[in-house]
Amino acid sequence: MDNPSICDGVIREIKDSKLVVMDNNSTSETFLLDKETEFLQVIFSKEEQKPISEMKIEKGDVREGDIVSVFYKNEGGKKKSAAVKKIVNKKSLMEKASEMQMDYIEIVALLSNIKPLFYEIVQDGKIDEIKDFFEERRLICDFSKERCEDLGKDGLIDRNKESFLFVSKDRRKIKNFKKTYLGSSDREKNAEIGILLGYPKCCADNFIKETIERYSDYDLEDRSKYHYFRMSSLSKTFSPLANPLFCFYGRVDKSSREKIEILNENIIKNTSLSTPYLYLTSHVPCSFDCKETIEYARKVYFAIKEENESVAEELLETLSKPVLFFSVFEFVVFEGEGSRNELYYEKIAKPHSLVDDEIIKKIEKGNRLTVSDDKIGIYRDGVKVDTIKKKSKEDGFLIPFSNKVI
Ligand SMILES: [Zn+2]
Repeated sequence: MDNPSICDGVIREIKDSKLVVMDNNSTSETFLLDKETEFLQVIFSKEEQKPISEMKIEKGDVREGDIVSVFYKNEGGKKKSAAVKKIVNKKSLMEKASEMQMDYIEIVALLSNIKPLFYEIVQDGKIDEIKDFFEERRLICDFSKERCEDLGKDGLIDRNKESFLFVSKDRRKIKNFKKTYLGSSDREKNAEIGILLGYPKCCADNFIKETIERYSDYDLEDRSKYHYFRMSSLSKTFSPLANPLFCFYGRVDKSSREKIEILNENIIKNTSLSTPYLYLTSHVPCSFDCKETIEYARKVYFAIKEENESVAEELLETLSKPVLFFSVFEFVVFEGEGSRNELYYEKIAKPHSLVDDEIIKKIEKGNRLTVSDDKIGIYRDGVKVDTIKKKSKEDGFLIPFSNKVI
């Protein structure tokens, strides 16, 4: 057919010999279909703004609601269609994970064979979609409500709306993990759980020893704070690859869900990322210079980079900024550089946390701060402009992540 015209729009009606399409100006156009009309499916990449594959399909595969490009010619006052191209937008893994309300980073790590198994609490309404997603990729999914009643008491899971999901290539690994995780009465004290999830042994052992045992009298939120403080004091360098600060799940109990949601929203609003998963590894490392964690996170970084280069870069850049840490939900991220005791900064960076406005106002007065056990001094060009008093040495300490130690 010579120089056909093209109509882009959505199918309103499709019959044996008639196709009605509403075009981009909301005008309905009617086309004639016959035996010669070709039907094709075009996979279109939004990111690259181009078609990436085209294949012939049956007419029955085209339905009302599909987005199409109709190639047609005017013949005797009627529009005769030569080809109907069904446009399918390729979704990135990140968009798909976001639709399933699942952890994008963990999915990439699993699909890239970096992680042997992962589990997540998922919405019951999403189960069919999630099952299709993993089974298409030849992974085994196991949904379970086992022990939900017990764990529900801790506020970990809402039995009526949520289920555990376990995914792996290896059915035995799922079985083993379920036995260890769901079967253990002292789940928290079992370092084996971390190992089965692919976390380094040094970190899994350390997590039990430090976070669970040393601070057993504290709630999860305080435990995380004390653990980060100890990690900070023991670390020689501060690799952004081992920055776990923006992973909130597992660091707090479910009563903090609302806070997590606000922070996650801040992350999405403040960055160009469409998911709130701002970390390369979800476990708490034994230190900010843990070699095994860095190695693991580097693999995840490259796997994300292969999927979406700009996302990987933005993720690493955000994780590379120094942080003044008050609590799991209260911290200040900086454009700047420093050590554990002193920080030179240009401004406060994103993502923003739930830290008090008064603290922000004080910090904004200066461009350098010093941290001691009982106070934070704020200076501008060598002159002291304000002080933040600390309640304890853990109440405001510096974690000087830097892009120089990747
Ligand atoms: Zn470690």
